[in-house]
Amino acid sequence: MSTVEARPQDATDGRPDGQIAVENPATGETVAHVPDMSAEQVAQLVARARRAQPGWAALGFDGRAEVMYEARRWLVQNRDRMIKTIVDETGKTREDAQLAEISFVADSLGFWAKKAESYLKDERVRSHSPFAWGKKLVARYRPRGVIGVIGPWNYPLANCFGDAIAALMAGNSVILKPSEITPLASLLMAEGLRAAGLPEDVMLVATGRAETGTAVVDHCDMVMFTGSTATGKKVMARAAETLTPVSLELGGKDPMVVLRDADLERAANAAVYWSMSNGGQICMSVERVYVEEPIYDEFVQKVTEKTRALRQGRPGELGSVDVGAVTFAAQVEIIERHIRDAVEKGAKVVVGGKSGAGPGRFFEPTVLTGVDHSMEIMTEETFGPALPIMKVRDEQEAVRLANDSRYGLNSSVWTRDLAKGERIARTIEAGNTCVNDAVTNYGAQELPFGGIRESGIGVRHSAHGIQKYCSTHSLLITRFAPKSELYFFPYSKRRSKLLERLIVLMYGRGSRKRKRGR
Ligand code: NDP
Repeated sequence: MSTVEARPQDATDGRPDGQIAVENPATGETVAHVPDMSAEQVAQLVARARRAQPGWAALGFDGRAEVMYEARRWLVQNRDRMIKTIVDETGKTREDAQLAEISFVADSLGFWAKKAESYLKDERVRSHSPFAWGKKLVARYRPRGVIGVIGPWNYPLANCFGDAIAALMAGNSVILKPSEITPLASLLMAEGLRAAGLPEDVMLVATGRAETGTAVVDHCDMVMFTGSTATGKKVMARAAETLTPVSLELGGKDPMVVLRDADLERAANAAVYWSMSNGGQICMSVERVYVEEPIYDEFVQKVTEKTRALRQGRPGELGSVDVGAVTFAAQVEIIERHIRDAVEKGAKVVVGGKSGAGPGRFFEPTVLTGVDHSMEIMTEETFGPALPIMKVRDEQEAVRLANDSRYGLNSSVWTRDLAKGERIARTIEAGNTCVNDAVTNYGAQELPFGGIRESGIGVRHSAHGIQKYCSTHSLLITRFAPKSELYFFPYSKRRSKLLERLIVLMYGRGSRKRKRGR
């Protein structure tokens, strides 16, 4: 057992319950302890981050980018240490940590280092308004101050520190609040940033439970939250008390629509990979599949064989297992409840369906058929290695069912006819839709990524994903300034009449297009 070295920022206030034990879900062993920070400690961290922010902002884009490139080098050099830390606290496989955590975050560090300046550069604006003629108009972005980044346990690096990168590149300080289940990757990354030259106190980690998160919401200038829909609603309600802006990346129930002309081998491989990868603990996992009748049996057969062949177990050497542990203990009950509910209502478990034997916490890769929308497994986020497959008559029924959800995160359509695929993709009600792919859109960081409905508010990635960390500041500069304006005091009948004639002249016409008979 090791204890993460506590730096001064991490010191507990001496409460007997001031430590949180971090468990390896694949073995049941305690791997570390971290402080359970009080609201008062969070307030102190925010005050320190606030003091450090102006100096960080003053470094400019190039100065900040240098630190990010250096952090990227550090991450790659220390990849084994980071992968071990993530595997130990999540029970995920080494491959799951390598691709979606190390590779994604390394890519993201370079992406924001390169793109931040162009996404946040001043915009010179030309106005249509006669009141602004001849004036210089500039829309600019300036850092909000201290951003609270609150993250979940399923991606302790990519969905925690990952969201801090754009916030930092925009010139903010960051308070990073990882899940109490998986705080170690954030602490290690903070060490990496110090080694990369990040000035003291620009990013501080607030380890703790829900109360710690609440304090982050109370004290920061903006909150970037990733987690469950239920907690997202609490965060938004709390933030409303101080009118603190929030960006929420929440749960999903992502549909996959497989049409009769799809490449079935690719679709089946993708269905298995994107439902079981990371143990199914991805916000944008394939959580439900709709397959057109003529190809349904063949698709189910392929998915069944491929799922049966998956190797599950304690993560070992590279290539030793495909599916790791269930990171969060309470998640097992949710997975079991969804499967029990489905079976009671007539679904059939084709593969898996049970928790694995200990030590460690595993749930067998599971495929269900005979499912419908009366079942929780088709409507609620399962967040585990379970894939329900439903037969549909035609594409209309598939789209109707795909859209029948309170969520709207990712989604996918599978067909060899690309024009049809894009046409159908445009009718899917979600933040993001892939054709003949799933989840890969997340890596294309030029594209906005976010959810609609109860999957979230706001986006990460793209220009929007960094502009949200700034307040807009509009400048109007009058260069040719007369002593007085037509509309200034004192009001006079003559000038008011003149203004009225101008209003009629400018706004009294209907549509020019209609007049031209178009
Ligand atoms: P939770 O909502 O339980 O927790 C998320 C974070 O919020 C944790 O750090 C948690 O701390 C903290 N927290 C808990 N209560 C509060 C509160 N009242 N105020 C402020 N912060 C609080 O989510 P999970 O960790 O269980 O993560 C899984 C969920 O995340 C899934 O629904 C998944 O879909 C979603 N997710 C969404 C993504 C997206 O991009 N849309 C990406 C990844 C995951 P603590 O753990 O210490 O309680």
